[in-house]
Amino acid sequence: MQDALVRLAVYTGGLASLMILFPIVGVEPLEQEVARVSREIQSATTFFVQSITVSEILIDYQNAKIAGSSTTTSSYSSKAARAARRKAPSAEKVSILIVPGHEPGMGGTEFGGLYERDIAIDISDSLVDLLKQNPRYDVIVARTKTEWNPLLQSYFDTHAAEIAAFIESQKQQMAGYIATGRFTLESDQVSHPSAPSAAALKIYGINKWTSENNVAITLHLHVNDYGGRRSRRSGIYDGFVVYVPDHQYSNGEASKAIGMAIANRLSAYHATSTLSKEDVGVVEDRELIATGSNNTADGAALLIEYGYIYEPQFQKSRVREVAIADYAYATYLGLQDFFNDPVAPTYGSISFPYDWDTVTVADGATGPGVYALQSALRYLGSYPPRGKTFSDCPVSGVAGKCTQKAIAEYQAAGGLETTGTFGPKTRAALEKDLPTP
Ligand SMILES: [Zn+2]
Repeated sequence: MQDALVRLAVYTGGLASLMILFPIVGVEPLEQEVARVSREIQSATTFFVQSITVSEILIDYQNAKIAGSSTTTSSYSSKAARAARRKAPSAEKVSILIVPGHEPGMGGTEFGGLYERDIAIDISDSLVDLLKQNPRYDVIVARTKTEWNPLLQSYFDTHAAEIAAFIESQKQQMAGYIATGRFTLESDQVSHPSAPSAAALKIYGINKWTSENNVAITLHLHVNDYGGRRSRRSGIYDGFVVYVPDHQYSNGEASKAIGMAIANRLSAYHATSTLSKEDVGVVEDRELIATGSNNTADGAALLIEYGYIYEPQFQKSRVREVAIADYAYATYLGLQDFFNDPVAPTYGSISFPYDWDTVTVADGATGPGVYALQSALRYLGSYPPRGKTFSDCPVSGVAGKCTQKAIAEYQAAGGLETTGTFGPKTRAALEKDLPTP
């Protein structure tokens, strides 16, 4: 992750939520305190009490008020969330904040005349359309291409000093927990450049605002890049990654469960990032402000990097629209899986069924039809072709050897002549294998 993600260079720490409290007596020898803490950690598995848990969030979804029926049960355990619930009794749905990465007209990576901050808005628009069809969700979007949501903008404007003080106190507290061994720096992190402090203030501000306003899930949408790529050249990595908070943070458990569900759907049609440490698909991170560094977010918070900006599905203008809609769809499917309310029936991709008569697979042919064909072949088990990965043969919307080999395998499996070309018999077989769900 190279784009200007706001990240802390050093831990100087803090925490937003409730934690396991043991009286700390100033004169007590350090060893005893550490020993007691480690017992506490063993019994509770995490240091912070979870500010939001999977079961709480699932109950809220089940109890969400749909068109005037049923009542809502408050179940968040954090003080701030309970206060927000009292303050905002209309919060009878599962509140989701979508944060398209970076700022209006500013920040993020770019390649081939495309700006990450704009792609993020397009993915957000598609995702919000889907989320709004579900009456259990209350959806808020952080910004458009040109401005912040006025709710957030006014919060940034009127609470700047409070946000700065919040950051400072959280950092100081966290420094204490690290110094006494109560929070463990367990693993190396993917390195990211730190963002300018004005941007950091906004993202911390979003964390504070979501905690105060009982937002259950915050999704930060990004497109990836990495340090050291020559600006006019494609890079060597590809694939998606979902960042979630360190499991020791109070929003760790729920965020990770949601992240796993979304990654599961994304991985059905796309490569997992090939960058070292991102290649596990769902990556815990203690320093990303967006997911709640210094334990600053009470709600679940995830940061999704959908792919690297130079990948063809973003760069090819005729493919981009379907790819973006498909990424949004996979995200929605993942959320529904998490909530045990899956979308069914579904192929997991919205790119097909398709009018196959309009699709050609000559080398270099490109467009939504090729994207749909690659996805359809994937669904039927023939793409990527045998021995190849999604990194070798992505669902890119660009036809070539990968697609032709996959067609040949599909033909062989169905007892058709294995030409590798997309003729009438193969189209007919595909129609038959993939009825409208
Ligand atoms: Zn980004």
